[in-house]
Formats: sequence, C-alpha cells, structure tokens
Amino acid sequence: MKIEIFDSTLRDGAQAEGISFSVSDKIKIAKALDNLGIDFVEAGNPGSNQKDLEFFKEAKSIKFNHTRLVAFGSTRRCNIKAEDDSNLKALLEANTEYVCIFGKSSSFHVEHIINTTLEENLNMIDESIKFLKTNGRKVFFDAEHFFDGYKANKEYAILTLKTAENAGCDEIILCDTNGGTFPDEIIEILNDVKKNISIPIGIHAHNDCGMAISISVLAAMNGCKQIQGTFLGYGERCGNANLSAIIANLELKKNFECLPKGNIQNLTAVAREIAEISNFKLGYNLPYVGSSAFSHKAGMHIDGVYKNSKSFEHISPDLVGNERKFLISEVAGKSTVIAKINKIYPDVEKNDPRLTDIINTIKELEFGGYQFEGADASFELIVHKAFGKFKPFFEVLDFKTIGQGPLEDEKYSASAIIKVMVGDNVEVTADNGDGPVDALNKALRKAIGKFYPVLNKVYLSDYKVRILDGKESATRATTRVIIESTDGESLWSTVGVSKDIIEASFKALIDSIEYKLFKENK
Ligand SMILES: [Zn+2]
Repeated sequence: MKIEIFDSTLRDGAQAEGISFSVSDKIKIAKALDNLGIDFVEAGNPGSNQKDLEFFKEAKSIKFNHTRLVAFGSTRRCNIKAEDDSNLKALLEANTEYVCIFGKSSSFHVEHIINTTLEENLNMIDESIKFLKTNGRKVFFDAEHFFDGYKANKEYAILTLKTAENAGCDEIILCDTNGGTFPDEIIEILNDVKKNISIPIGIHAHNDCGMAISISVLAAMNGCKQIQGTFLGYGERCGNANLSAIIANLELKKNFECLPKGNIQNLTAVAREIAEISNFKLGYNLPYVGSSAFSHKAGMHIDGVYKNSKSFEHISPDLVGNERKFLISEVAGKSTVIAKINKIYPDVEKNDPRLTDIINTIKELEFGGYQFEGADASFELIVHKAFGKFKPFFEVLDFKTIGQGPLEDEKYSASAIIKVMVGDNVEVTADNGDGPVDALNKALRKAIGKFYPVLNKVYLSDYKVRILDGKESATRATTRVIIESTDGESLWSTVGVSKDIIEASFKALIDSIEYKLFKENK
C-alpha cells in the first residue's frame, strides 16, 4: 500500500535550535527531497514571512519531478471574512496545487489561547477550507492539538474534524502537537476517528516522548494514508517524527510503498546532504542512515558479522545506501583488523605475511596514542602502503607557523609558510588563517591545489582534539587529533598524534589529502 510522505523540514524543521535556512538552502533541500521522491514538501507560510514568500517565487521557475510543494498557513483569524484574511490570500499567491492549513481541535486552546467561542472556531475551519476549495486548491487540514483536545473534550475535537470534512477538505491530519501522547493511546483514538470520518487521515507526531517514529509507523499500519514529519527529525524541542527512519521501517519491514521503486537506496546520501545543508553533523546513531548504524566494535560481533552479516545486523546496509564499518580498538583484536583489510583487499588470505606487518604497525601506533576507531581513512592508507599500492603525491619539505595576538585588531590570528615538492617542482607558499592549523591547511592547499584541482572541493567538516596523558605532563602532553573531511559527497576521517598539537593536526591533514588523492587516482 502507498503511504504519502509529507516533509516539513523547511518550516517545522527550521524551528529547531541552531537552524537558519536561507532561501537557497531551502531550494537545495526541496530538490534533494524531490530527487528522493518525497510526495509533499511543505515550504512554509508565505503570509507570515518574507523568506517563505521569496522561496515560493523562486520555486516557480524550478522543475520538480515528483514532489509537490505545499503552502502552509492557518485558518482565518477570528471575526473576519475568509476573503479578507491576508494570510489566506497569501496562501493563494504561493500558487501551489496543495495547501495545508492548521486549525484548533482543542476546546481549551479555542477558549483560553485564541480567546474565541467554540462556535466561531468551527466557522473559521469551515469558511477557510471553503475559501481555499472555491479557489481550486487541494486542502490538507492539520488538526492542531487533536489528541490532547480529544482527551479533554472528545465531542468537540471530533466535531472540528467533521466540520473540515463537510467543508470539502481532502485529507485530515491528526497532530500530536505537544508530543506527549503514547502510541497505544494514539491508535485507540485514531480508530475512533475512523468511525466518524470517511476522508483519508494522516498523522503528525512530535518526539517529546521519543516515540514519534513508533507512532507514525503504527498509524500507517492502522490505516493512515499520510505521514508528516521532517526528514531527519529536526524540529522544535525534541523534534518531529524522523521520516528517514519511518520510510525505511515502512518499506523494508512492512511492505508499504513510500518512495518510487528503488529510491530507498539513496536514503543515506540524501540524509547526509540535508544534514550538510542544515549545518548539522548527521547524528551518528540515527537509525538506518547514521554513520554508526552498521558499525561493529566488539570482537565477537565483528567475527559474527564477518561469518554472516545477519548475525548482528537487522538489515543489509546497502539497502539504504549506508555502509558497514568495523571499528578498530584493542577490544576487537586480530579478526577485526583482518575483516577490515578484507573490505579493502578481498582476496587476501588469512596467513598473508603482510597482514602481520599491518597488525604490528597498528599496535605500535596505538601504543603511541593513535586510535583508528573513527579514522578509517588513515587505516586504509596504512593498508595501501603495506600493499605497495600507494605512491606519494607530494612531499612536505618544511613548514613554519607564526601565531599573533591579541586578536581584536588582527583579521587572522596566525600565518603559515610551507615548502612542498610535487614531482620535480618545489613550491613555497604562505597563507593566513584562524589559528595555525587553519593557516597551514590553506597554505598546503595553495601549494598543491594547482597540481590537484580536485582538492578545491575538499574541506574539513569536523576537528576533534584529545589530550592523552594530561595529568603529569600538562602542556607537553600527547595530543591526538581526528579530522573529518568531505567533498560534499563522501566523508572520511583521519588521525594524527604528536606532543605538538600543530604537528598532530598536520599529520591528520596530510592523511586526509593523501586519502582523497589516492581515491581519485586509483
Ligand atoms: Zn509540528
């Protein structure tokens, strides 16, 4: 059975702490959702906000293949005519085939928050829907605070839905606006609603009890046709229902159809893209799409997965475009290292002497403070080097950094000079940066970027510093730096260790660049 997926990342998602979408961010997200085949993308309220209005203007010139854009607003204000309501008029100006309006289903909210009569609220629902229908729109009605309203005043809550249905609304969405209702209650109430309403019903859940995914999945299993949420669960407070997990659950476990056939394999890529545009790191432990969703660390688990992936994985990661990872740590032991090497060179035999060399190298480095868990790219480089597959792309002959301060008057706090050799060319370059590592990064890219333009797309997406034996040696302590780099499509992590934080960072940086160049030139 087909389930309609309705994404409101652009509005509800934008309510999340730390998110601020520009118009071009919004267009990019809408395009990403379109490529994946999301049915509806709700793009905000053209009546309430200039940015949203601009979005709809720009969106008119963009061709969407699958997605239909939805303008979002509320029922008319109290005591005026629908045709005089500027927000409803703005909804029409957005010029979308579909609109979604929210209205009150809770008598408490009607009487105490918007301060009007129960009857006037019903008129607001009725007249707003009729107005939009007369103007040729398909209308979704979001019944705000429906479940809380139902629990306090069941007759009235149902009456608001009946009013919407009678006014010609196309679909009614039941909202758990405060996110406090449990899945069993939701289903019980939903089943009662079904007895009263004959148009299709949808669900809009918030994650305040951590159950928005369960609620949405159960609602679909109990006859809801539409699921509203945000692609990665972004939203106010604890967020909205996480559509990426809901889609995977419904398609892979319950045989529903949410996306066009085959598109679910792009789920992880789209999740990464949307997190990137939102300027968030994708939650490592997100179901299905997180970078750890198929990571194995305990030695026995790794051994098991290596023998048969079903032993510790609920699905195969490639179904959602994610990948399996074996994390290296002392816990994992030899079988992990071999399993990891086999991912890179599948034909290597267990008794190949190069494996022992690699394991010894790793042990030695780990003893010196390295950790390859979370630094897959550095690990891979060690393997390629041991197998004689890696040829150096450049050599750093010398570098210097100079810090300066206080910062108030200075545009940059540091500069770096670097001397590198690429083939027979010796390059000397310098650059400024925010701190010595940034300056070094820039100077290095400037020096080798003209030989390897592919590096222009690469940037650092995360930088972590860990002091290893801080207690005794304080500022002389060993430092481990892990950096994560991206070219917009893939992510890779590298590690560097030194008594000197700049050198540790520089080692991680060199690994990152070498890894990218190796991948490109393989
Ligand atoms: Zn919401």
